[in-house]
Parts: sequence; C-alpha cells; structure tokens
Amino acid sequence: MYLSEEQIRPHLQYEILIPAIRKALIDYSLGKVEQPLRQVIRVKDDAGEPAGWFATMPAVSGEFMAVKTVTFFPGNASIAGQPTHQAIIELLDRATGQPLAVMDGRLITEMRTAAVSAVALDALALRPVKTLGILGSGVQARSHIAALRLVQLGFCAPGAVRIWSRNPANAVQLAASVGAAAVPIEDAAACDVVVTVTSATTPILLGRWLMPDSLVIGVGAVGPRLRELDDDVMRGCLVAESRQGAEAESGDVLLSGAQIHAELGEILAGKVAAPENGRRVFKSLGMAIEDLTSAVAVWRSLGN
Ligand code: NDP
Repeated sequence: MYLSEEQIRPHLQYEILIPAIRKALIDYSLGKVEQPLRQVIRVKDDAGEPAGWFATMPAVSGEFMAVKTVTFFPGNASIAGQPTHQAIIELLDRATGQPLAVMDGRLITEMRTAAVSAVALDALALRPVKTLGILGSGVQARSHIAALRLVQLGFCAPGAVRIWSRNPANAVQLAASVGAAAVPIEDAAACDVVVTVTSATTPILLGRWLMPDSLVIGVGAVGPRLRELDDDVMRGCLVAESRQGAEAESGDVLLSGAQIHAELGEILAGKVAAPENGRRVFKSLGMAIEDLTSAVAVWRSLGN
C-alpha cells in the first residue's frame, strides 16, 4: 500500500502525535527501541560541490519496524514545488517482517519534528511562558508555531509569537499568515522560548540576546560541523533528544564542548530531574523512532 501526502494528511493530528511522540521518547531513553545512528551520504553535484544529503533511518519498536529514506537539498528552496526535505517511510510488521505500507515522509517529518519540540516545551519551560521567538520562516517555522500553540495556549495571544528570518520579507509573510509579528533577531531572541529552525551553517543565535531563564529549542544544524547556536547559548543546561545523536551529529554540541545533562526521555520518565532554573537548551536532530511512531499513528487511524 502506498500513501501519498494527501492521503496521510487527514490521519495526522498534533493532538494524537504529541502524546505518541512523548511515549516514544520515553521508550527510547528506557532502551526499548532498537535504532542505529542514521547513515548519511553527502551528495555532491556534477562540479563536486556539496549539494545535499541522503540518509537512511531504521528503527524497531513494539509491533513495528520502519525505515525512512530522507533527502535534504537546501538549494531546492529556489525551485518551485521542490521541498528542501523529502522522504519515504516503509512500515513493516515486527513479527513477520512483512511490509505493511509505504508512506510519503515529507509531512511526517514536518509534523513529528514540531511534536518533539512541543514535548520539550511542556517538559522544560519554566512557567509562566508568554512569548515565543522563531528564527526561520520555512516549513519547520510554520509547523512549530502550530504545535507549540497547542501546548502553550498563551502563544495564540496577539504579539506572543515573534518571527525573524534571514530574508525579512519571508518573516513578514509568515507572521501575517499566523497572526505573529516580524521582528529584528534580537527581539525574537528575547522571548521566553526561542526556536531555531533555519538552514544556517554558522551561529545565528547569540547567548547575549537571551533572557536568563529562557528555553532554547535548536532544530536546525543537523550535522557535526553545522551551527545555529553560539558557545554562549550552549552554556545553558543541555537536554538532548538522544545522547548518541547529539554526540555524533550536532555541531552545536560537538564544537562548543557542551556536556549533556540528560535525554528528554530520561526527564519524561522521571529518571533525571529537569533543570529548575536558568537557561535550558534542547537539541533536536530527529530520530527514526519518531518517524516510526508517526507512521504507526497513520496506520492505526486507517483502521488497522
Ligand atoms: P526550509 O527550507 O523550509 O526553511 C529554511 C529556513 O532557513 C528559511 O527560513 C531560511 O530563511 C533559513 N535559512 C537558510 N539559510 C540560512 C542562513 N544561512 N542563515 C539563516 N537562515 C537561513 O527548511 P525547514 O524549515 O524544513 O528546516 C529548517 C531546519 O530544520 C533545517 O536545518 C533542517 O535540516 C532542520 N530540520 C531538523 C529536523 C529535526 O528533527 N531536528 C527535521 C527537519 C528539519 P529565508 O527563507 O529567510 O532565507
């Protein structure tokens, strides 16, 4: 069975996805998930210049197995109709190895990433939380605003969401469509929660702009030499989606020398206490178990 993005869309809702991802993160940190580090091929163009990456992400959990193949070609931003991230997910039965479905993975990648951040916000933000700064204006910026508003209703208030983007016109356009404000980067950084969702390769968020108790959610910079957050940001208490991922795939972690306080799943499971005060940094990189969990949610919603 092949499911296109249009067929998947009615079966993916944050209200179901966020609690499912929360459980998946706990299972992962309790060692209930088999998931090797993703394999990445750096793809070059005909001239030998870096063009994008191509990764495979398998996982086994519960009754299911899944593998996602995903590509990231940032140059697609200037090609109409070509998303920068594209993916296919195969869902299989764990008991027999039977393939059950092949699903387009673009929307799943979009929504499961925002769902992880929603879980992190719920677990790590110090209350009261009133303002959300978004750095970036692409697919993840939009999905994060939708998902984080579900967890923090205050983000629906006028002026609560502040967006900066490298291209100011894109920030203005996104802000107008979601009822937010387009602001200079320093103003987006001076929020209770700051989400970085850019394809930047060097730090764009500087620690000196942050408030003392803010929560930073770093979503971009997926790669050992990539940065979105400067060393000063990384001096906050660091919570990782996975230690294995952060120590292999995060330039923000590796190049700053930051030490990981806990995995998010360890905090959710009550194994490690959440930091009580001060700046917190959650580093997201994306995991195969999140794709598996989302594909299972679609599969179940179809009546299986
Ligand atoms: P999009 O291509 O939709 O958007 C990219 C955004 O990055 C745009 O807002 C663009 O701004 C901005 N941008 C590009 N280059 C730079 C730069 N050099 N400096 C500052 N801003 C820049 O991508 P997505 O929204 O899908 O993904 C955003 C990031 O999240 C990527 O790094 C991606 O790899 C990562 N990601 C992480 C996942 C995870 O699980 N952690 C999952 C999926 C994606 P403008 O348009 O104004 O130029």
